[in-house]
Amino acid sequence: MTAPHIRSRIANEWLEHGHIHEIRNPADIGETVATAVFAEPLEADRAVRTARSAFDFWRRMPLMQRTHILFSASRLIAEHSQSIARAISREQGKVLPEAMGEVQRASDIFAYFAGEVLRMRGEHYPSTRPNTEIEVVREPVGVVLAITPWNFPVAIPATKIAAALAYGNSVILKPSEVTPLSTSLLVETVVAAGVPESVLTLLIGGGQLGASLARHPGIDAISFTGSIETGRSIRRAAAETEAELQLELGGKNAWVVLDDADPALAARIAAESAFLGSGQRCTASSIVLVTPGIRTTFLEHLREEVTRFITGDPLDPEVRIGPLVSAAQRDKVETYLQQARVAGYRMTTGPAPRSSHAGYFVVPHMFESVDPEDTLATDEIFGPVLATLDVPDLETALMIANRSPYGLSAGICTRSLAAVQKFKREMEAGIVTVNLPTAGSEPHVPFGGVKQSSHGPREISSHAASFFTRTRTIYTSV
Ligand code: NAD
Repeated sequence: MTAPHIRSRIANEWLEHGHIHEIRNPADIGETVATAVFAEPLEADRAVRTARSAFDFWRRMPLMQRTHILFSASRLIAEHSQSIARAISREQGKVLPEAMGEVQRASDIFAYFAGEVLRMRGEHYPSTRPNTEIEVVREPVGVVLAITPWNFPVAIPATKIAAALAYGNSVILKPSEVTPLSTSLLVETVVAAGVPESVLTLLIGGGQLGASLARHPGIDAISFTGSIETGRSIRRAAAETEAELQLELGGKNAWVVLDDADPALAARIAAESAFLGSGQRCTASSIVLVTPGIRTTFLEHLREEVTRFITGDPLDPEVRIGPLVSAAQRDKVETYLQQARVAGYRMTTGPAPRSSHAGYFVVPHMFESVDPEDTLATDEIFGPVLATLDVPDLETALMIANRSPYGLSAGICTRSLAAVQKFKREMEAGIVTVNLPTAGSEPHVPFGGVKQSSHGPREISSHAASFFTRTRTIYTSV
């Protein structure tokens, strides 16, 4: 089978010129999954002009018509879920059931925003002046730039484009250069559902292309998900152009296990939160803070969980985690593992990878009694690496967890209502879970962090309207 050849698209023109990159299967690096033409950064200008000229048509389209198109996109994504999910598995390394879940999520998001936009409301104020009415109306912001990472190459772009399109904006999407195939399948499915090509531009390329888009003065709003470092540079660019900005960044998410928790449940959640997706989820919890009374039994259960986690080919039904996405990601994780081995922490690992191919496999690793100052306990590693920390009580667990500059998600396992209430009040995280994994958000609910993990309004749920629309206040006297 010849690998698909993917390109950027501005309106109905495919961009043929640019560097050609081979996208390799991270579970079998001898296999080329796709070839991709990376667009030149100077295409940014043409893309912005096209999106600008398409904006008026799209914003004026009768709302019900827009809604129907978004519902069709939801249905079509679901219909193509097998092929899109297989592309995610082969390009990104996610096991097939999780990839199917990701595509389902994308379909749900389109359905959600198709309905949600019908609920958009303005406001009406009484005036202090006679015969005067005051209305506050919402309208689309204009041209939205969406820049997305590789770890959810379908669900994250779907979230941004569904919300932006629903509220009447035109969109330029620059997906991660690591996983352009899955995202381009999503985009072409959305276009096939009836979104005009000029309203949804796809530009494939790397950081330079992203940077030239982010600093373009014709962009009205930027919705970015990715690393803190890239987020910072986009923030500087947006400060120059005064584009609206929404950033969803990294996390170092804590899982706190108290003496009165169910040790088996706490261990299962700890392992799944740390290792599913090979730990490459922004909401993965890679540190567990455990109190003394449960430590021994909890760790026995957790070691057992770790040794049952099978790594290997993401299309093998018995495999629970696939490879890391790239050599760079594998090397980064290996550096942390090497440091942890040198530190001499007690270590438990998962079984050797089940694959006959060369891939970027890293089996689950768990380290015990890790020093809270160790980079293992403070850095976002983005791999299947779990550090357990011993803490005397909840107070100390909160103190350590809250020291992090990140604040994306955090969870607690306990039966104590008082502890739950204290955790809900004092844990500095945008998402707090109780007896549930730190990962696994729902598509109709706000998602995002506090501190350095996020910036700007939430992108999903009804809160998205405050980013993808702006308000105008109108005084009328008749
Ligand atoms: P990344 O920051 O390296 O890249 C993200 C995107 O930004 C890519 O499309 C990339 O090409 C682009 N980019 C790179 N440099 C740029 C620049 N100077 N200007 C504009 N665009 C640029 O992130 P990644 O490695 O793809 O993703 C992993 C990171 O994403 C992790 O830190 C993870 O926590 C974070 N993430 C956060 C969430 C969330 O919702 N909070 C979700 C998923 C991933």
